[in-house]
Amino acid sequence: MLIVSEETAAQVVTGEDAFTAVENVFAAMAKEDAYNFPVIREAIGYADALYGFKSGFDRAGGVLGLKSGGYWPGNMEKGLTNHQSTVFLFDPDTGRPHAMVGGNYLTAARTAASSAVSIKHLARPDAKVLGMIGAGHQAGFQLRAAATQRAFDRVVAWNYHPDMLPNLEKVAKDIGLPFEAVDREALGAAADVIISITSSFEPQLMRDWVKAGTHIACMGTDTKGKQELDPALVAAATVFTDEPAQSVSIGETQHAVAAGLIAETDITPIGAVINGTHPGRSSDDEITIFDGTGVGLQDLAVAAAAVDAAVAAGLAIDVEI
Ligand code: NAD
Repeated sequence: MLIVSEETAAQVVTGEDAFTAVENVFAAMAKEDAYNFPVIREAIGYADALYGFKSGFDRAGGVLGLKSGGYWPGNMEKGLTNHQSTVFLFDPDTGRPHAMVGGNYLTAARTAASSAVSIKHLARPDAKVLGMIGAGHQAGFQLRAAATQRAFDRVVAWNYHPDMLPNLEKVAKDIGLPFEAVDREALGAAADVIISITSSFEPQLMRDWVKAGTHIACMGTDTKGKQELDPALVAAATVFTDEPAQSVSIGETQHAVAAGLIAETDITPIGAVINGTHPGRSSDDEITIFDGTGVGLQDLAVAAAAVDAAVAAGLAIDVEI
């Protein structure tokens, strides 16, 4: 079995590698060549931890496995990140373990790749202003990945905890984009693309604040009860997602569906746009939303890319088990 450490995964998998892996697996999901298994997530009643598995099989890519991990709120005090994950890959022909891969960097990389894939396929080609709602661990990765997809000329940002915004400003400066902290109404009025990546349980962006033609990648809502968007905004938009069943149960559309504003059949898998079986954006005025809920196949796809790159670089550790 090959072992790829957290450090090696971060060293060998570029944002571009993650983008390609995620775009390909979304395409495979829409062709039903790849599917996710039901997600397990449990409060274990110890250390306040949430622990679970995301798993799946990509027949097209020959990738079978799971991501195991969760959230340990006390980790920060121990000098560790609260979110912890590890990916295990298995040989689909024999069931033998193939690789164990550190999954913390890869989770951020695959989540950023997911919204970047949506920007590539759904944002207006002339998008110039990127709006960021959220400034936590994921936000910097999101900003970097988004900036590879359109010729943005500035970033406007808002965060519930304003003291976190300088972290995001550093990333914007690093990639040469002017950065301005604004209120949410001003953000909606200015932005052509908006990424929301918060742990909010209430709408952060209202229908009336968003201008025609905006693309929104809604990335924070990945659990029942979480919410980032006004359901009226979701109802007014054309909605795409990684996985419709997950979008309506733990993703952003859970609220608009519960309110009877949209149905699961109104939500299109982004893979259909990638494959060319759905046209995607249909006019310059349309508001598009990508509800990125985060699926196990994304984790497996980037972990497989990490294994290949680590082997090529001579950095994978081989052990007999
Ligand atoms: P983090 O803890 O580093 O940052 C949390 C962010 O949410 C910060 O910007 C914080 O200011 C904001 N926030 C906290 N409480 C808020 C509130 N009450 N209202 C509005 N904003 C609030 O977390 P992170 O690692 O950056 O993750 C952000 C979110 O993204 C989490 O909800 C996480 O579960 C989710 N996530 C989704 C995916 C996916 O695939 N879709 C992957 C990873 C993380």
